[in-house]
Amino acid sequence: MGTEPAGRAEQVEVVIVGAGPTGLTAALRLTQMGVRHVVLDAGPAPTQTSNAALVHASTLEILAELGAADELVEAGGKVNRIVMVDRGRVLARVGLTDVPSSFPFALGVPQSTTEEILLRRLNGPVRRGHRVTAVREDGDGYLVTGTAAGPDDPVPFEVRARYVIGADGSHSAVRSAIGLDFPGETYPSQFVLADVELGERPFGDDEATINLSARGVTVIGRLPGGTHRIIATVDPGSEVPQAPGRAYLDTVLSARGIDVRLAAAPVWSSRFRVHHRVADRFRSGGVFLAGDAAHVHSPAAGQGMNTGIADAYDLSTRLAAVLNGQAAEPVLDGYETERRAAALEVLRFTDRLTKLAMLSNPAARAARRALLGTGSRVRPLRHRVTLWITGLKRSPLRSDLPAVTPRRPEPAKP
Ligand SMILES: Cc1cc2nc3c(=O)[nH]c(=O)nc-3n(C[C@H](O)[C@H](O)[C@H](O)COP(=O)(O)OP(=O)(O)OC[C@H]3O[C@@H](n4cnc5c(N)ncnc54)[C@H](O)[C@@H]3O)c2cc1C
Repeated sequence: MGTEPAGRAEQVEVVIVGAGPTGLTAALRLTQMGVRHVVLDAGPAPTQTSNAALVHASTLEILAELGAADELVEAGGKVNRIVMVDRGRVLARVGLTDVPSSFPFALGVPQSTTEEILLRRLNGPVRRGHRVTAVREDGDGYLVTGTAAGPDDPVPFEVRARYVIGADGSHSAVRSAIGLDFPGETYPSQFVLADVELGERPFGDDEATINLSARGVTVIGRLPGGTHRIIATVDPGSEVPQAPGRAYLDTVLSARGIDVRLAAAPVWSSRFRVHHRVADRFRSGGVFLAGDAAHVHSPAAGQGMNTGIADAYDLSTRLAAVLNGQAAEPVLDGYETERRAAALEVLRFTDRLTKLAMLSNPAARAARRALLGTGSRVRPLRHRVTLWITGLKRSPLRSDLPAVTPRRPEPAKP
């Protein structure tokens, strides 16, 4: 990072780069604690698609702290169980209801709705069309610069801040600006994703099913309004349409022995590749990475957005405690220690799940059937898996975050 002389840039305490679920959660928490901040986002509008469609108990607890949980629960559909099925035969059931939480379930809800509710709750401006291109040290803070969409050509902008949160997704410009590596790999399989209306189905509305087969894994889970989300792994070499249609998806379901068909053309569908990467540091001085900017992993067990929201709550609580004079700077060190360990744990577990799900060798698949069948009947093991999936085990609300209270408003000038 270079150093530039102090100019007349706008000055705030925290700049948040990115208004996805991670950036919006950080903004809400900082607002709650009275910290002056701005949110900059390169995109013209919030996410319109369903992307991360499962919100876990630990995330609902965080959103409750921010006053956003009730509206979200109202908008979503409860998922009480995850059921593992192999060609029609139930191998394992993992209940999500037997957990020490006031939200004993997962919630099926599109990411676009989650973001919409966070934004409504924030009730403050997000500067859209603001693409950050550089972050430089500047005195005892940072100068964040970039270009803002103008009526004709983009116009340069700059904001100075004591701290910067890079919540700008997997291609993070903030991560590049502070020179942090993002090591990891890409899974060979392709992933197909679709939001669909299903015909008659052999599972309950409150169940998400993970269907194993030699052709690949297919996850089917509930979304609100009678639709379902399908995620399927597909062989690396096979032709997948850019937006898979009804006929393609019905063929995938039938080839895997899943006794359900689409009732209409998909509401939305896509194909993508999955990477698993964790940044080598989550912090450089006063610049922090959170959410997809810091870690990306397989969608197995729906951990991506949930982990980002937990990062944001942890980090913004620590920043507010320091900026409000309620904790000393070293409390910020805990962010990387806690949240990088959480990200590595998520990566390891989702990687194991993904590899287990993608087994094609018949002997290995038979061993998997036996392992899942026996393992799911051992209650302590089942409970551990549930605590892991729900995120309760690594929730910032259950760690030693500093106590923080909202800053008192400054007295009005006479
Ligand atoms: C098709 C798809 C399906 C998915 N399915 C699942 C799922 O089933 N389960 C799950 O848990 N996760 C899933 N994910 C991942 C999940 O969407 C992410 O984990 C989550 O969005 C991460 O949130 P974030 O706020 O960290 O980053 P993002 O949501 O990526 O938000 C980053 C924001 O930063 C902005 N930005 C980027 N660069 C700049 C810049 N230079 N300057 C300013 N702003 C910038 C972007 O416009 C964006 O608004 C899916 C993702 C996709 C794309």
